[in-house]
Amino acid sequence: MMESTLDLARGATRALPADALASLRGRLHGALILPGEPRYDTARRVYNAMHDRHPALVVEAANVADVMTAVTFARQHGLVLAVRGGGHSVPGFGTCDGGLVLSLERLRGIRVDPERRRVRAEGGCTWADLNHATAAFGLATTGGIVSTTGIAGLTLGGGLGYLARRCGLSCDNLLSADVVTADGDFLTCSEDRDAELFWALRGGGGNFGVVTSFEYRLHAVADVLGGPTFYPLEAAVMRHYREWLAEAPEALGAILGITLAPPLPFVPEAWHGRPVVVVLTCWSGPSDEDAAVGERLARLGPVIGQSVQRMPYPLINTLFDELLPAGLYHYWKGCFTRELSDAAIAVHVEHGARTPCLQSATLLFPIDGACQRVAGDATAFAFRDANFATALGPSWPDAADSERNIAWGRAYYRALRPHSEAGGYVNFMAGDDADRVRANYRQNYQRLAAIKSRCDPTNLFRLNQNIAPVRTT
Ligand SMILES: Cc1cc2nc3c(=O)[nH]c(=O)nc-3n(C[C@H](O)[C@H](O)[C@H](O)COP(=O)(O)OP(=O)(O)OC[C@H]3O[C@@H](n4cnc5c(N)ncnc54)[C@H](O)[C@@H]3O)c2cc1C
Repeated sequence: MMESTLDLARGATRALPADALASLRGRLHGALILPGEPRYDTARRVYNAMHDRHPALVVEAANVADVMTAVTFARQHGLVLAVRGGGHSVPGFGTCDGGLVLSLERLRGIRVDPERRRVRAEGGCTWADLNHATAAFGLATTGGIVSTTGIAGLTLGGGLGYLARRCGLSCDNLLSADVVTADGDFLTCSEDRDAELFWALRGGGGNFGVVTSFEYRLHAVADVLGGPTFYPLEAAVMRHYREWLAEAPEALGAILGITLAPPLPFVPEAWHGRPVVVVLTCWSGPSDEDAAVGERLARLGPVIGQSVQRMPYPLINTLFDELLPAGLYHYWKGCFTRELSDAAIAVHVEHGARTPCLQSATLLFPIDGACQRVAGDATAFAFRDANFATALGPSWPDAADSERNIAWGRAYYRALRPHSEAGGYVNFMAGDDADRVRANYRQNYQRLAAIKSRCDPTNLFRLNQNIAPVRTT
């Protein structure tokens, strides 16, 4: 039987010899934080409050050498290892019970090469860090729509965002990666060096090593026309959105959400808390086409409220930061959709109408355009024929509401399954979705399992949507 990720995170608490811990502390330039020490309670926590875990130790790496030391220590002492970039993993893969948490949050260095349109960013950067650094040169790459999310976990799973239709997934823009392997060794991989590992990193998640820095291709992106437009939750709005996207230029990144109307000044009070469709627009094309985008938005349906304006690209990725602070409870599920059929729309309308709270949203990320110009076996991210990656995202502020929210997310997902592909986007999967990993990678699974067996035969890196190494005995 397959272990759930919760089982994987539950390591036996080991009594580590005091001299081993003292020696580890002496070898680190970063911090070693142990239970009972003042920063322990903060250091063990992750973004999703569902995961209240107690690791035996937390290492905050200050450099690559610290990462190598921590990986080696975990392996030698048989500890569960939780690698943490931005800490946003909804299943809580960035923490564990009884094991070693390796946090990269101090690794935030970024170097932009504006001439070659490249950036190298360390593994603890958030999208706020990266967008800020590249925007100074009028450049950007595809990243997440909440600025506090880590570049590491997001890129390694694929990476969806406003620029995906125009620039491809985040992993499609990855040019090279520095990696600390399960042996504690260091290598740089790219199309030309360790190409199999590089292939696996582009969608295969944190299964293959600790990525200490990512080199991305950049694109000319300065100001964008962006922001939310709210409509009643009606099938016609979703059908019009579907028609618009099918013909829209790739510079349009319009994510469709189903949620409850927030109490914002531009949303009439009578609508606050009622189910709505929201279209999150990001037009990165020429500004003289802004009016045409505005007209098209007006034709999707009766507009309840709208705040769409020109803004710097980094800003559009902060619009939901306040709505989604650390410390909420989350349980997400994901599926890929080829056609947003009328039947699927009916499911969205029915279940969207029962959205339990303001922070919850179902989001349809378009992944056509440039994402589909990459072959299904060119990177580990397999679903290049899907048009949408759907996130069913129950998120709520009060632990007492967990059962209700989780039940809603599960029922919605069950109803969508007949209208979806078997697999989903690994970064939207729940902790109890371990049995879907093969389906998520489709034709690429066997190749990933073979690479995993070579790179990490003992499954040291197992707190992720886990690709188990092939057992040879
Ligand atoms: C509020 C919110 C908004 C989101 N928005 C988007 C979005 O717009 N687009 C999108 O595609 N996804 C989005 N996601 C999903 C997101 O991609 C995943 O949660 C992702 O795992 C977050 O990466 P992280 O580094 O912050 O997380 P972490 O919890 O630190 O890590 C996630 C996984 O990656 C592994 N990992 C982390 N760092 C490294 C590293 N340096 N080397 C190797 N493995 C590593 C971890 O072990 C873990 O398995 C969002 C999630 C949240 C909670």
